[in-house]
Amino acid sequence: MSAAVQASPLNRLAANLEELGLEGMASSVPEYVRLVADGRKSLVDAMLELTDAQIALKRRADDERRTRMANFPYIKTLADFDWGFQPSVPRGLVEQLATLEFIDRGDNVVLVGSPGVGKTHLSIAIGHEAVMARKQVYFADCSRLVEDLKHASAKEALTRRMRFYEHCSLLIIDELGYLDIGKEGADLLFQLVNRRYALKRSTIVTTNVPVGRWGDVFGSNVTASAVADRLCHHCAMIKITGRSYRLKDVSIGGEDGKEDGA
Ligand code: ADP
Ligand code: MG
Repeated sequence: MSAAVQASPLNRLAANLEELGLEGMASSVPEYVRLVADGRKSLVDAMLELTDAQIALKRRADDERRTRMANFPYIKTLADFDWGFQPSVPRGLVEQLATLEFIDRGDNVVLVGSPGVGKTHLSIAIGHEAVMARKQVYFADCSRLVEDLKHASAKEALTRRMRFYEHCSLLIIDELGYLDIGKEGADLLFQLVNRRYALKRSTIVTTNVPVGRWGDVFGSNVTASAVADRLCHHCAMIKITGRSYRLKDVSIGGEDGKEDGA
């Protein structure tokens, strides 16, 4: 007689559950069988608890997978944000954005401010809320995104790569304006913003350059206004004017460090 034939029905049930990918149920099923046999649980309650636990496991694994796919450099939440330190941040508006209604509407968010004021932190916090709400999010450093598109374009793979950046419900483009993107980069970024605009998919942009000076970033006032036009059409514009959090414990020139310039 083979091992499979000799195995008890309980062992075979556990093996079946494992084969179906239901490891959580497989490991707890012997205990539940005992509870039902002793009359301490009804069959329906036992099945319900087993499936609830399996669903909780699956949801956690899905959340972790979406968080990995979102490519966040680190996780920050709104609970980690010190609102008192940065009073220029409109807390009500940020909390409203965290309800994610702007994603359902396909609106955008632009966070403008000097380095260290919390732009990346807030963009990740909103992105993380979206991941937890089962939305597909992708965080991209602006210059890396542009390099990636240029590389794809050189290999005639631009359409496929564009599709990747187009399809998520929330794209975060971090640090626009820190590094020169060149004319080709500016055109590629315009194409991406334009496609997401046409598809009504939300984008968050963080930048240290006010929108009125994007001509310098894109190397052309025409491209800059075409990008700004699409991004700012339905958009929450958040200007942060405070000090760098990175320098919060550093006193500069013996005063409060207003000119941190990090
Ligand atoms: P920016 O993108 O504007 O340059 P970051 O969001 O990267 O700034 O912030 C720099 C660091 O300071 C990060 O570790 C961030 O979590 C932290 N930080 C910035 N502002 C705050 C704040 N108000 N409360 C808590 N942490 C903050
Ligand atoms: Mg940043």
